[in-house]
Amino acid sequence: MNVKKYSKKKHGNKTVPGAPHFKIKEFACNDGSDAIYIDVDLAKKLEKIRVHFNKPAHINSGYRPPNYNLKVGGASNSYHTKGRAFDVYIAGINPKTVAAYAESIGIKGIGCYNRSIFVHIDSRPSKYFWTENSAGRISYGTSTFGGDVSKYPTLRKGSQGSYVKKLQQRLVKKGYKIKVDGKFGTETYNAVKKLQKKYKLVVDGIVGAKTWKVLYK
Ligand SMILES: [Zn+2]
Repeated sequence: MNVKKYSKKKHGNKTVPGAPHFKIKEFACNDGSDAIYIDVDLAKKLEKIRVHFNKPAHINSGYRPPNYNLKVGGASNSYHTKGRAFDVYIAGINPKTVAAYAESIGIKGIGCYNRSIFVHIDSRPSKYFWTENSAGRISYGTSTFGGDVSKYPTLRKGSQGSYVKKLQQRLVKKGYKIKVDGKFGTETYNAVKKLQKKYKLVVDGIVGAKTWKVLYK
């Protein structure tokens, strides 16, 4: 967490440090107030989400002054009033898919709004997830959106399928030039070993919880 205070007038058209796809004014409240608080660490994670999906990300709601938040019926201790929560809409991407990715990169506060079509993320320190269903009802205490990488299956040479594809996509994102074909062959094996060496893990070419974690770093 690293909350910074900005002025819409003075800094609005500048990009957020570490999040070049986002201008500071995008986090402003639409009540006309000038002060904007932004957790720039969380904004960096938002940037990661933006880059991962490679689609425009619209912030439905960022900073909310406490008075405004009360008026719109927000929780009084809402992370939005501290600049530590963003509601984000990514065109053409299912909220659950966004929520799963947010979970995989270690975001602890996630609300998946399937009817309103946005995902709330915040920088709370311990995990709390909730889901709005298609009827608009919210259920609290969702255990996972499927993005808990420490629970991903262990993969090794010879493994096949969708998780191997996921692994290969992450390796490509990390700069290894390999085919994404869902088959864990020699090429993938060598890339995994290079990655493990780089991050000082046991170099065994087997993808377990620790290797999955660095893949999503
Ligand atoms: Zn929110």
